[in-house]
Amino acid sequence: MNNCIFCKIASGTIPAYKVFEDENYLAFLDIAPVNPGHVLIIPKKHFVDITETPDEIVEGAITLAKKIGGKIIASKLGEGFNIGINTKTAAGQVVNHFHIHVMPRLPNDKYQLWHGKNYAAAEAEKIVEKLKLEE
Ligand code: AMP
Ligand code: ZN
Repeated sequence: MNNCIFCKIASGTIPAYKVFEDENYLAFLDIAPVNPGHVLIIPKKHFVDITETPDEIVEGAITLAKKIGGKIIASKLGEGFNIGINTKTAAGQVVNHFHIHVMPRLPNDKYQLWHGKNYAAAEAEKIVEKLKLEE
């Protein structure tokens, strides 16, 4: 048994408020929610972050996030929701077991999204070259 807190939740060693479970995934309430109903989706198998998670497992997790988002709206826990995947320490990842946040949003709930910066002259042209993907 490794020392990963989400592996322990997946195996039932430590408790969680579960909203969905199947063979491959678990979804449960975040202990410190942005708003009540903030859900975390994890694969039961341990992957450190999204970059190390097989595509088909990421896809299944995103589909679950969409369903949970629908529930958040239907239940009126949120008028909308954000889906978040923090990846590596610089991006605020604290638990190194791939997970997706589904966060209910309400008007004036004070949760802050990013504040956009501006590109310097000719900077965007250089950046786009670095990011271009092959088809
Ligand atoms: P991240 O910053 O993306 O790694 O987010 C980790 C999230 O896990 C945080 O929002 C924590 O509140 C949440 N968390 C940590 N421990 C637990 C736990 N035992 N049960 C539920 N959520 C947890
Ligand atoms: Zn783990």
